[in-house]
Amino acid sequence: MMKLKEGPLTLFESALYKTMSAVIDLGDAILLVDPCWLPHEVEQIRLYADVLAGGRKKYVLFTHSDYDHIIGYGAFPDAEVIASAALADKREEERETILEQIRGFEDSYYLERDYEIAYPAVQHKVERDGQTLQLGGARLTFYLSPGHNDDGMYTVVEPLGLLLAGDYWSDIEFPYIYHSSSLYEESIGKLDTMLAAHAITRLIPGHGDSTTEVAEMKRRQTADFAYIAAMRKAVKEGDQAAIDALIDGCPFPRNLRKFHRGNQELFERELRVGEDG
Ligand SMILES: [Zn+2]
Repeated sequence: MMKLKEGPLTLFESALYKTMSAVIDLGDAILLVDPCWLPHEVEQIRLYADVLAGGRKKYVLFTHSDYDHIIGYGAFPDAEVIASAALADKREEERETILEQIRGFEDSYYLERDYEIAYPAVQHKVERDGQTLQLGGARLTFYLSPGHNDDGMYTVVEPLGLLLAGDYWSDIEFPYIYHSSSLYEESIGKLDTMLAAHAITRLIPGHGDSTTEVAEMKRRQTADFAYIAAMRKAVKEGDQAAIDALIDGCPFPRNLRKFHRGNQELFERELRVGEDG
């Protein structure tokens, strides 16, 4: 459903996991971000973007390759795709794993779509921090954000001042770490780099509410650093009670507990590797 419309920015929130899709009018072109994820939701975003574009060029940006974020790709065959080089160059078997997750999801709910499920073909690859892409009067500046998974990136859209965060700085989720906790810390540290280099007016996470307040952006960053530090310490000490207590009071506990458990296992693996090496 449409969650927010403010000037050139329109946000759509999926009924699933409060996943955020954005449609941004850049003036000379239209930028879509992670259009997802139920069939009618993708269709609503497509229709909205088509009317808004009115013949102007469309770009689809993927914040990372998690299956829920790329599931809408096939609905935009007329758009050019922007993503990290790590997403673009993903090995065939890893692509297949992600596509298989989508197929599994479709089968679970008997979903049918009027487009093909496919892995994104990327025309604009992001290789490094500070890389830019000029689209008419708008400039996108990218920062790589590995940690949550291995191919994330942040995008700052100027002159609007939007920060497209992908799966970082959610107000509902603690850090979901599938790839590396130290890279995750490095990536969330880049909030300070971006706040210093750009006039950020709104941070838009992949799940949950966006915020216009710098204090709230910093609060989320601090909470995420604290969660990681506390988890690492408790795992090292083998303190299960402290680990369990880390997510006391979190929303949707029956689901978030699973991700918390997944994080614990990742920290345990990292600890073992650290001790071996
Ligand atoms: Zn994700």
